[in-house]
Amino acid sequence: MSLNGITVSDETARHVLFHYGAEGGFRPGRFTVLLMEAIDAADVVHKARLRATYPELVDAMNLAANSDTGIAQLKKIVGVIIRCKRCTDEDGPFTPAGFCEQCARPVPLAGAR
Ligand SMILES: [Zn+2]
Repeated sequence: MSLNGITVSDETARHVLFHYGAEGGFRPGRFTVLLMEAIDAADVVHKARLRATYPELVDAMNLAANSDTGIAQLKKIVGVIIRCKRCTDEDGPFTPAGFCEQCARPVPLAGAR
């Protein structure tokens, strides 16, 4: 599946979800576990070097770590059904707190200015 121009496979999405302790994650082999720790710890220069060899993994981890909807997008790839905590609707995008945009929008109280 392509997300923001990034193509992430089901397998990579599961590995990254595992790394971030999210639902739908699956523990990869030891090398990938250590590689994801290295990517997580890398500064910008080293992350760019790792991306040259592991573009999908670095991009997927970047999406998970730096986008409010990244984890939700990865969950969608692996088929985890995400529902709004308030209205239980499946339509995203969802906030990090688990609400759909509609429910996350502040509702003005009657009489409030
Ligand atoms: Zn909702």
